[in-house]
Amino acid sequence: MSWIGVAAGSLAVFLASTVAFDVVHAVLHGMMRSRVRLLQAVGGLHGVHHRFLDRELRIHEEWRRANLLCHVIPEYLTQLGFGALLLLALPARFVVPAVALETAVFLAILRVRGSDLNHRPRARVPAYRPHLFCLPEYHALHHVQPDAYLSSWVRVLDALLRTGAVLGGRRVLLVGSATPAGRALARALAGAGARVEPAPAEVASLRQLAGPGGPHASDVLLLTGCPAAKAAALLEAFVEGAGSGWLAPEVAVVDAGGCGALYRRYLRDPRLVYRHLLWVEGEPPERQAWRAVDLWRRGFHLLAGSPAAWLRHPRLRPRGGSRPSVGPHEPEPGDRREAPDGVGHEYEEGGGGAELEPQHAAAGLQWEDHEELDRRRREAHEQRAGHGAEPQGQREEQPEQPPEDQPRVEPGRGQLGMDGHPERVAHAGAPGGHHGQAVDEAPEGTRRIGEAQPAQRHPHATAARRKR
Ligand SMILES: [Zn+2]
Ligand SMILES: [Zn+2]
Repeated sequence: MSWIGVAAGSLAVFLASTVAFDVVHAVLHGMMRSRVRLLQAVGGLHGVHHRFLDRELRIHEEWRRANLLCHVIPEYLTQLGFGALLLLALPARFVVPAVALETAVFLAILRVRGSDLNHRPRARVPAYRPHLFCLPEYHALHHVQPDAYLSSWVRVLDALLRTGAVLGGRRVLLVGSATPAGRALARALAGAGARVEPAPAEVASLRQLAGPGGPHASDVLLLTGCPAAKAAALLEAFVEGAGSGWLAPEVAVVDAGGCGALYRRYLRDPRLVYRHLLWVEGEPPERQAWRAVDLWRRGFHLLAGSPAAWLRHPRLRPRGGSRPSVGPHEPEPGDRREAPDGVGHEYEEGGGGAELEPQHAAAGLQWEDHEELDRRRREAHEQRAGHGAEPQGQREEQPEQPPEDQPRVEPGRGQLGMDGHPERVAHAGAPGGHHGQAVDEAPEGTRRIGEAQPAQRHPHATAARRKR
């Protein structure tokens, strides 16, 4: 067998092993919730890992040594034992390189005493991207919400257990609640534990309704019955209203046709977690909604409520130029008309289209200049909010009053200072869960190891400790 075959086989064994360890991980979390003391004690070994990096993503130095002894080393011993078992069934030429790779990762984690790429303090959790592998921001979410995002290297187990996204307890602002899709999705989401609230299809109202979300889950905007241009405007208003929160906001768009440009534009937007729901008019809404929410919980970003919907995959559609399909329904200046959601709201006068802002168009920017547009919009938002960019790690000192021109629904949640560009973190290193690639330093702008804020200063610290 060629060396390529051996390498591919070894990699397959390695990745399959990580899924097996993810099962152990899930079992340990189940034990932590058990009422049986013995099981609790075993699960508590993994609980130490979550005490080391808590739900606010702060490093606790007092747990660093225990994290190595109770989590990192036992995890590696489990890997060795599993490797020995595999030798009984598979050729050594596949198993030995896989175990060697696990050993290299283990030594790298030991070298940085547990503070690998996946385990470092953060002032903000960037949006995670659609990806087969678990990038660092994905594992960060596991520490924020320990009952979900259990996968460490590939998202297989989360897809199987429906732990790839959290809907329970989250606020979902639903635009188009009176449409058949809206009604069916509201029921399906409520069945998954979400708090669904009807929202108007108005840019200004939505900007005001949006908020940074709760301490452990951001708010969700679900758009149904909106043409692409209107949906883009509402999405931007929601993201702007949510501000640079602790967790990235989430937006899902129901595409019954003509919204493919939104998928291409926002799927990898670093400001938000984007999901695209393919909807087929004429098929039973309830069944479509149930399937879509099921895929949502499994962590998928492209959701199809019907097998026929896959035929309308956004990437199968012609692009038709740089932006035209985003804005086919731009209202004329002064135009007021009924929104297509049937809830009696109206388009904002002359606004809400997906045209570039005049100042950006004058600067020669195009819709493709995502990063530059995002940067300029963030700066403008900060200026309107009355405070400029502040360094990371000062979340506790942020004023909790909402900006004067943007009243918040839940003003007590606080708001974060603007983080550096999330993309910098997303591409910072190779994927890895508990086995992340080691780093020596925290990224520029984040708190360094050992400089974690005292726990009692954090507004959510007490609740977080209670929940563990
Ligand atoms: Zn865990
Ligand atoms: Zn971890």
